[in-house]
Amino acid sequence: MKNMLDSQAIEIPCPHCQRKLSETIGKLKTNPVLRCRYCSNEVKVDATQMRTEIAKVEQSLAKLQRSLGRLGK
Ligand SMILES: [Zn+2]
Repeated sequence: MKNMLDSQAIEIPCPHCQRKLSETIGKLKTNPVLRCRYCSNEVKVDATQMRTEIAKVEQSLAKLQRSLGRLGK
Protein backbone atom coordinates (compact mmCIF):
# COMPACT_ATOMS: atom_id res chain seq x y z
CA MET A 1 0.00 0.00 0.00
CA LYS A 2 2.84 2.37 0.85
CA ASN A 3 4.68 1.58 -2.38
CA MET A 4 1.46 1.92 -4.33
CA LEU A 5 1.04 5.44 -2.94
CA ASP A 6 4.66 6.35 -3.68
CA SER A 7 4.22 5.42 -7.32
CA GLN A 8 1.25 7.76 -7.75
CA ALA A 9 1.93 11.06 -9.46
CA ILE A 10 0.57 14.33 -8.12
CA GLU A 11 0.27 17.66 -9.89
CA ILE A 12 2.20 20.63 -8.59
CA PRO A 13 1.45 24.02 -10.13
CA CYS A 14 4.59 25.94 -11.03
CA PRO A 15 4.51 29.29 -9.15
CA HIS A 16 6.52 30.92 -11.95
CA CYS A 17 4.58 29.99 -15.08
CA GLN A 18 1.40 28.48 -13.51
CA ARG A 19 1.71 25.27 -15.52
CA LYS A 20 1.15 21.97 -13.82
CA LEU A 21 4.06 19.65 -13.20
CA SER A 22 3.55 15.99 -12.53
CA GLU A 23 5.82 14.04 -10.20
CA THR A 24 5.49 10.85 -8.18
CA ILE A 25 4.93 11.02 -4.43
CA GLY A 26 7.89 8.73 -3.78
CA LYS A 27 10.24 11.09 -5.61
CA LEU A 28 8.85 14.18 -3.88
CA LYS A 29 9.28 12.58 -0.46
CA THR A 30 12.97 12.08 -1.18
CA ASN A 31 13.49 15.41 -2.90
CA PRO A 32 10.66 17.96 -2.79
CA VAL A 33 12.34 20.26 -5.30
CA LEU A 34 11.40 20.12 -8.96
CA ARG A 35 12.80 21.79 -12.02
CA CYS A 36 9.97 23.20 -14.09
CA ARG A 37 10.20 21.73 -17.55
CA TYR A 38 8.49 24.75 -19.11
CA CYS A 39 10.28 27.74 -17.58
CA SER A 40 13.35 25.97 -16.04
CA ASN A 41 12.78 27.54 -12.63
CA GLU A 42 13.12 25.62 -9.39
CA VAL A 43 9.85 24.67 -7.75
CA LYS A 44 9.92 23.86 -4.05
CA VAL A 45 6.98 21.76 -3.03
CA ASP A 46 5.36 23.01 0.13
CA ALA A 47 4.94 20.28 2.80
CA THR A 48 1.34 21.31 3.52
CA GLN A 49 0.43 21.28 -0.14
CA MET A 50 2.07 17.88 -0.53
CA ARG A 51 0.08 16.46 2.40
CA THR A 52 -3.14 17.78 0.82
CA GLU A 53 -2.30 16.19 -2.53
CA ILE A 54 -1.30 12.89 -0.88
CA ALA A 55 -4.59 12.84 1.04
CA LYS A 56 -6.48 13.28 -2.26
CA VAL A 57 -4.56 10.39 -3.83
CA GLU A 58 -5.20 8.21 -0.78
CA GLN A 59 -8.90 8.91 -1.08
CA SER A 60 -9.06 8.00 -4.75
CA LEU A 61 -7.00 4.85 -4.13
CA ALA A 62 -9.42 3.82 -1.38
CA LYS A 63 -12.33 4.44 -3.75
CA LEU A 64 -10.61 2.39 -6.44
CA GLN A 65 -10.03 -0.48 -4.04
CA ARG A 66 -13.68 -0.47 -3.04
CA SER A 67 -14.84 -0.68 -6.66
CA LEU A 68 -12.27 -3.39 -7.42
CA GLY A 69 -13.60 -5.29 -4.41
CA ARG A 70 -17.10 -5.11 -5.83
CA LEU A 71 -15.91 -6.38 -9.21
CA GLY A 72 -14.22 -9.34 -7.56
CA LYS A 73 -17.50 -10.64 -6.09
ZN1 LIG B 1 7.35 26.98 -14.68
